[in-house]
Amino acid sequence: MSDYPHLLAPLDLGFTTLKNRVLMGSMHTGLEETRDWNRVAEFYAERARGEVGLMVTGGIGPNLEGSVLPGAAMMTTDADVTNHKVVTDRVHDAGGKIAMQILHAGRYAYGPKCVAPSPVKSPISPFPPAELDEDGIEKQIQDIADTAARAQKAGYDGVEIMGSEGYFLNQFLVTHTNKRTDRWGGSYENRMRLPVEVVRRTRAAVGAEFIIIYRLSMIDLVPNGSTHEEVVQLAKEVEKAGATIINTGIGWHEARIPTIATSVPRAAFSWVTKKLMGEVSIPVITSNRINTPEVGEDVLATGCADMVSMARPMLADAHFVAKAMAGKSAQIAPCIACNQACLDHTFGGKISSCLVNPRACYETELTVSPATTLKTVAIVGAGPAGLSTAMTAAERGHTVTLFDKADEIGGQLNMAKQVPGKEEFWGLVDWYRTMIKEMGIKVELGRSVSADDLTGFDEVIVATGVMPRDPGIPGQDGENVLSYIDVLRGKAEVGKKVAVVGAGGIGFDVSEFLAHEGESTTLNLPAWMSEWGVTDPSEHRGGLAPEGPQPEAPARQITLLQRKAQKHGKTLGKTTGWIHRAALKMKNVEFVGGVNYEKIDAQGLHVSFGEARENPTLIEADTIVMCAGQLPERSLADGLEAKGITAHVIGGADVASELDAKRAIDQGTRLAATL
Ligand code: NAP
Ligand code: SF4
Repeated sequence: MSDYPHLLAPLDLGFTTLKNRVLMGSMHTGLEETRDWNRVAEFYAERARGEVGLMVTGGIGPNLEGSVLPGAAMMTTDADVTNHKVVTDRVHDAGGKIAMQILHAGRYAYGPKCVAPSPVKSPISPFPPAELDEDGIEKQIQDIADTAARAQKAGYDGVEIMGSEGYFLNQFLVTHTNKRTDRWGGSYENRMRLPVEVVRRTRAAVGAEFIIIYRLSMIDLVPNGSTHEEVVQLAKEVEKAGATIINTGIGWHEARIPTIATSVPRAAFSWVTKKLMGEVSIPVITSNRINTPEVGEDVLATGCADMVSMARPMLADAHFVAKAMAGKSAQIAPCIACNQACLDHTFGGKISSCLVNPRACYETELTVSPATTLKTVAIVGAGPAGLSTAMTAAERGHTVTLFDKADEIGGQLNMAKQVPGKEEFWGLVDWYRTMIKEMGIKVELGRSVSADDLTGFDEVIVATGVMPRDPGIPGQDGENVLSYIDVLRGKAEVGKKVAVVGAGGIGFDVSEFLAHEGESTTLNLPAWMSEWGVTDPSEHRGGLAPEGPQPEAPARQITLLQRKAQKHGKTLGKTTGWIHRAALKMKNVEFVGGVNYEKIDAQGLHVSFGEARENPTLIEADTIVMCAGQLPERSLADGLEAKGITAHVIGGADVASELDAKRAIDQGTRLAATL
């Protein structure tokens, strides 16, 4: 019997059967906007070959006013039908099923033509929406139904109607955004009229044998959001109107509570979906922070849902389900929920990919094929750059030896995993360890290699990483000064009052590490909910606790400093920076910017402000932690050059500034694909 009997069980929808209970949830990868339909088709086909039960595309607009962005993909013409047919044919040939998401963004649409139930501007868009009149509402409904009919013509197996995350349909449901007094506003019956009508008309447009998934916001996490009773009422009406499946949406985009970031506990919101189980007779899907077959199986076995949605995990590993079926769960590349290459790219106007898997969305460009000339490859440094190079080189048939002076693989990932809220990094290092063994890569740990040791290899790759930058502050040799390495490796005692020099990614990480004590709330769902002020939507509208966030008391008094006068955390991820800032604020971490570091003495850190070095101030501290960025560790690279040995220098050893695992892994994989 399979290790995942619930997850891998087929799901009979009456007119069609899904081969298992895994949905690849919708993601805005930006691929559809490239209009490179071969590339789009290959992305989805690769995941179909990976045996996922059903996929949902990125959001496709039903009209101009509802599209997320100017230029966003729509399904409004015959040409769109022809283009999308390339995708659906390829997916069907690969044995998969695919539904197209219809996304009407309402007031979240980034453009001056956006429309909404009421003219209430969204806090995350500069454009105030126009209030729709009766004809305008009819047009939106008809456009959505027509879009579904076109999707059917294009060969999709179904559509997902996006009714959550604060988009158009969701905006009608709650008084937060619906101030109308006509038949589309006021009572809940009136407010839910539009979403229900959309489902009814869509069903009428596509006939009985076509999947309609309705994505329903089960916990809005915004003021005046829906109650659980309203969620149930809507779900029942959506079922009656003809939906085949109900999918879970968690939180509006403007919510100030993290819902998918890595610090959110795994399956943190499955209990919300579970509350709907038994209330409707159609299947219900749950979502958010489910990233392993084990978690998915547990969610289904405990009756939280009939099916699980995993979106980002399908970027990290297109063959997630196939590996689970083969009993090779440990070989699934884990999504660490960092958002760095997926959502951060989307919000930065770039095509999504994946930190762990740079081939995601680049399937047609970054190909890994057997090498024509087999070589011996030495890689020095078993951090993310070296590990990814080693794996891709080995996959191509090369004989790889991986050296590291440390006695474990992982490099800086081993520091990241110590930070509360970054526990997923443990799984990433474990996955590398599994794969290195599986692929027969020779690993020599605890070995400091010199240029002389590398003369016999066909290819030499230097991935020796970085070393801390010396900020040169007078007094920094004192006993009260530590480097981030001492702190994150747990090698040093840290006092109760701390000054952190440098507010980059590592300064933030060190501050989070030092502000917490005891169990990380990421591993304790009730504690995490209390920390962020999340509660049961049966008790309070939108699932917002009336008392607000209740963080535990900070373990230390921390001051986080930077020389720049700008807002702290500007260099952090676009979609996660606000979470790190909020988490530290909750721990009363003081952000001080625009400083000059004057000196360190037994009392603490002395700073001044501005070019004129005014306002001398003592930041009292028992411990000062240096997080002032990094420089390339190039001693081996220089040694090789001196001996005339050609080497490829990658990762932090190549360029240290703003280095992160994403860049290191991408560079390593791309290099190895060409060796
Ligand atoms: P970083 O992001 O480059 O930050 C270095 C910090 O040190 C800055 O705050 C900089 O600010 C300060 N600094 C630079 N030169 C200095 C000097 N001479 N004296 C004093 N302060 C100086 O580097 P990092 O924090 O080491 O992080 C390394 C990489 O890992 C980054 O790319 C980062 O994004 C990534 N990372 C990300 C995360 C995350 O997103 N959560 C977590 C960990 C690491 P001022 O110049 O204003 O003082
Ligand atoms: Fe997951 Fe990070 Fe990859 Fe996005 S970039 S899919 S969050 S591992």
